[in-house]
Amino acid sequence: MNISDEKPRLVIDMDEVLADTLQKFLTLYNRDYGIAMDIRQAPGKELHENLPEHLNGQWKIYAHQKGFFKDIPPMPGAIETVKALQDRYNIYVVSAAIEFRNSLEDKLDWLAQHFPFIPWTNIAFTGDKIVAADIMIDDRIKNLAHFSGRKLLFSSPHNLLITAYERVNNWQEVAELLL
Ligand SMILES: [Mg+2]
Repeated sequence: MNISDEKPRLVIDMDEVLADTLQKFLTLYNRDYGIAMDIRQAPGKELHENLPEHLNGQWKIYAHQKGFFKDIPPMPGAIETVKALQDRYNIYVVSAAIEFRNSLEDKLDWLAQHFPFIPWTNIAFTGDKIVAADIMIDDRIKNLAHFSGRKLLFSSPHNLLITAYERVNNWQEVAELLL
């Protein structure tokens, strides 16, 4: 695949879209502070906003640790669906990874392990997501807001109160919509 490919470009986010990053955070909160894995996550709130106040900043400490992004479980259905989508779309994985410098190698390794069929040419680690493509799937509206193509908001507890975007709740719904 290359950029002259006639297929439409589909940009896909990593955290909370391809990767179940919340699950990794919960695993660590559970291990270190005994927080229940099934803690109720109030719609519209970040995970850390559901925790006792003294743990509010802990997520950033975890996310800066080397290895944090290496062993995150893939989202259910993500691998099969992205593989199937490759027949129809030129797929790019775009992650705002620069915020966490130790995440870069972890994220590359993670993609090689779970999505080996995505070539390096189609992976972009960036700050702001200024990209030209046809479709973007992301859980953060800050990434979708200025995108000029079709915007698909991938459901995550923090974005459940947002109504202004076309929404996909899981990878099965992405498959139904785009395949
Ligand atoms: Mg994300």
